[in-house]
Amino acid sequence: MLSSPALPVDPDRDCPLCPRLHDFIAGWRQREPGWYNAPVSSFLPPEGEDSVRFLIVGLAPGVRGANRTGRPFTGDYAGDLLYATLKRFGMARGEFEARPDDSLELIGTAITNAVRCVPPDNKPVGAEINTCRTFLVPTIARFRNLKAILTLGSIGHQSTVRALGARVAAVPFKHGARSDVGGIAVFSSYHCSRYNTNTGVLTEEMFVNVFRDVAKFLQE
Ligand code: URA
Repeated sequence: MLSSPALPVDPDRDCPLCPRLHDFIAGWRQREPGWYNAPVSSFLPPEGEDSVRFLIVGLAPGVRGANRTGRPFTGDYAGDLLYATLKRFGMARGEFEARPDDSLELIGTAITNAVRCVPPDNKPVGAEINTCRTFLVPTIARFRNLKAILTLGSIGHQSTVRALGARVAAVPFKHGARSDVGGIAVFSSYHCSRYNTNTGVLTEEMFVNVFRDVAKFLQE
């Protein structure tokens, strides 16, 4: 079901596969040469990929977040809630200071994005999501001890379900849901973006409850 782990798990720094995203990053390289401005790799625990039992799949780097810093969910609001919640459930340790050289470390957990390049207006188009699944498929496959995936938002959810070889119609996105997809427990949450928390689509309590379900599952 999963493709060979020999496929590259990360795009090249100058990945040309999505011309619109390539051009968007080129513009930011000119405007902000000190920023990372490239496809963002997955964030792994120091113990390595075999220690990963839990994978979080976000949407795409934020322009002043991961696109600036080079680490998923680092530098914009979404990371504040995500990393605080990971620490609360013992899935991370150290201090999150919104910098890739802070002391934050993941424990048994990895974080990736469905789309690795920052998209204009935080909105990747369907072709970009499909193209970038070229990297999501081997990313999932590299974690041989993976038990659970948490998808943040419907785009991350749908691309993950497809990457696992299932049909989206059979596993629709629903906040708080858990489905078995090819032997992996797929949990879903509304994305922890500032927009969703400001508008009340996602409260901290709702987010924590999803993590409580994941933590309980991983202990079973
Ligand atoms: N930062 C990321 O890396 N991914 C998201 O989905 C949002 C912010």
